[in-house]
Amino acid sequence: MKLGILGGTFNPIHFGHLRAADEARELAGLDTVIFIPSGKPPLKAEDIAPAHHRYAMVKIAIKKSPHFDLLDLECRSRQKSYTVETLERLHDLYPNDSLHFIVGIDAFLDIPNWYRPERLLDLTNFLIVSRPGYRFGDLSSSPYLPAGKEFHRKLDAGAISSYLTTLTNGNTVMLLNVSPLNISATDIRTRIAQGKSVKYLLPADVESYIISHKLYAFRKPQDRAVKRECRS
Ligand code: ATP
Ligand code: MG
Repeated sequence: MKLGILGGTFNPIHFGHLRAADEARELAGLDTVIFIPSGKPPLKAEDIAPAHHRYAMVKIAIKKSPHFDLLDLECRSRQKSYTVETLERLHDLYPNDSLHFIVGIDAFLDIPNWYRPERLLDLTNFLIVSRPGYRFGDLSSSPYLPAGKEFHRKLDAGAISSYLTTLTNGNTVMLLNVSPLNISATDIRTRIAQGKSVKYLLPADVESYIISHKLYAFRKPQDRAVKRECRS
């Protein structure tokens, strides 16, 4: 089986994540996309909702999607989450399947700052999806990708929808143009904190969850407590 892996803080999950995951699934012929909400992210210092809430919101968002699944590998741990360790666990869990790590252009460009990036590149294939505010041309600065300026330019111009390349370690990297949804969790948190509407940026059930648990706007002290179990 071809497994897509979408890691993220999902603080909160929104339609940008869901659409990118589904289009990557269709374009790359994935059997399933597994969402893996982070636990305590090593790189993000700003205000993050407790892992069990972020997990619960992903669960709500994907509940009607037969091709989406959810794993609490990272968020059930109180330790920092490292993608390298998660991918090693996934190889143990799914020894006969190929792994395809889905990342936006912004996230792929950030990989040199992650823990053990070279090892990470050895552990998975990549599906790099377009994201408003970033260009495939920006990937020319990536130390990992073979030269492909001409194809990056064609992708950015919309002349081609995908481009497949191979890393020196043999793993594949597919660049995919997906529907440009200019949505970010940061923007959603800001809108909520300002009392603005976030309707149509994320699933209505997730919005209801945020309101009923008073996330992002009016967080109570007990919501900050770390919980061991992510499952709602
Ligand atoms: P934040 O603003 O808090 O960083 P985010 O919206 O970037 O949140 P993340 O959880 O950081 O969401 O992203 C998880 C993954 O989803 C990353 O690989 C990111 O590039 C990708 N992603 C997020 N939003 C979009 C989007 N609108 N279009 C395409 N990819 C996206
Ligand atoms: Mg992000």
